[in-house]
Amino acid sequence: MNSSRRSFFKKSLMALAALPLIKSTEVLAEVACPQAAPKDAKALKKLLEADSSTGKRLDYVANAADSKNKKYKKGDNCAGCNFYADKKEVENYAPCSMAANRYVASCGWCKSFRAKK
Ligand code: SF4
Repeated sequence: MNSSRRSFFKKSLMALAALPLIKSTEVLAEVACPQAAPKDAKALKKLLEADSSTGKRLDYVANAADSKNKKYKKGDNCAGCNFYADKKEVENYAPCSMAANRYVASCGWCKSFRAKK
């Protein structure tokens, strides 16, 4: 094996070894908005609807970019909110303590948004 082939294989093996180091959250961070409804039965049953009383009180939208609220800042969404329960996330939906633990879309937003610290 000549040195350029050996070098190629060595670099390829190093690249393959580095793949597991990419965090799955970084890969999953790209969520297409608006999101499809969750397939998970629990998340679907407890989904926060924008036109529900809680949804209206919070001025919630399932797609942050659709918000007309003057407090909304481009780039903010539920996934970046302190009240979004990351550990219980299912299909990019998670319970929100400000919305009576209803499941909100990671792409969503409401006027109670508070950026994660
Ligand atoms: S409080 Fe945060 S997580 Fe809950 S709906 Fe509002 S922006 Fe989304």
